[in-house]
Amino acid sequence: MTEVSTRVDLALLGIRVDAPVQRRAGAGPSDDGHMLFGGAGAAVPIRSDSPYTVRGNRLLFEGSDAGVSVEPVRRPRFYDLRTADGIAYDRIARLHGADVLATTVVQTCVRYTEDQRCRFCAIEASLTAGDTVAVKRPGQLAEVAAAAVRLDGVRQMVMTTGTSAGRDRGARHLARCVRAVKAAVPGLPIQVQCEPPGDLGTLRELREAGADSIGIHVESLDDRVRARWMPGKSTVPLAEYRAAWSEAVRVFGRNQVSTYLLVGLGEDPDELVSGARELIEMGVYPFVVPFRPLNGTLAVDVDGAQAPSAQHLEDVTRRVAAELRAAEMFGSGQKAGCAACGACSVLQTTGA
Ligand code: SF4
Repeated sequence: MTEVSTRVDLALLGIRVDAPVQRRAGAGPSDDGHMLFGGAGAAVPIRSDSPYTVRGNRLLFEGSDAGVSVEPVRRPRFYDLRTADGIAYDRIARLHGADVLATTVVQTCVRYTEDQRCRFCAIEASLTAGDTVAVKRPGQLAEVAAAAVRLDGVRQMVMTTGTSAGRDRGARHLARCVRAVKAAVPGLPIQVQCEPPGDLGTLRELREAGADSIGIHVESLDDRVRARWMPGKSTVPLAEYRAAWSEAVRVFGRNQVSTYLLVGLGEDPDELVSGARELIEMGVYPFVVPFRPLNGTLAVDVDGAQAPSAQHLEDVTRRVAAELRAAEMFGSGQKAGCAACGACSVLQTTGA
């Protein structure tokens, strides 16, 4: 079992290792290697200056055994396949953690302009690098999902999307993709992730298409922080998020709805924890994740932003985890999605 303090350190300091399964850019936390620490999946930054290394299957801290087994996630077999029209499967969807298939169904975002984009986001970087395709077609996703389940034992799927200019903000294409994957692999649980759609009836459409859980990610509940870090996205008022979460809980059920809360954007820790408590009361799982400065984002290239301190991350994570445990809301209770995977957060190490 990994100590919470070690897991916090790994999330912030990363590890020096050559991981076969990596994501270099994209929406949300990236530049990570996917590994199992003490059997639990974790996405940790690959950094040449980290004090953590691996020898055999042991984690070392500055050369000494840290008391944890570590196993890099193997390169999945489906990465070697191509669609009939010649697109490599790993440009359509990728393995996250040990058994999650993840895709960004539309790799562009209407907010990805210099003055509107979220300052921590690199959604279009992997597109520019040629690592992915802009729009994943439902049939392509169905083909890749079937192969990932068959060849690599994938157990759940996460579909996120850049925000479209339409009123649905990208949710309708997600629904089409879910429908196609469910037709091909009916038993594969799927989480969709999107902004609050303009018409809340779209949430029902997503559920009826077959989505099992949903992430509606606000990243911060502090309007001051939102305006500074997410100038475009913060134009969607928090009231709209609350209405969407509430309707999503009605449609998907308690603890099948989640939201990212990033730690380290300059928020007040007490306010973050009390905001998380309100989310939990609504039936929404606050997926607490450290802000990570990633190359290619405005946060690094322009702002020179730093990751939160270990003490700050551990304090907030422990307090939110205690609230989750008291409410008996666990990531493992979600059918699919980031909270079910847990690799990008320290919450699961704290028993949430
Ligand atoms: S927590 Fe979410 S983003 Fe992180 S590895 Fe798991 S599925 Fe991917």
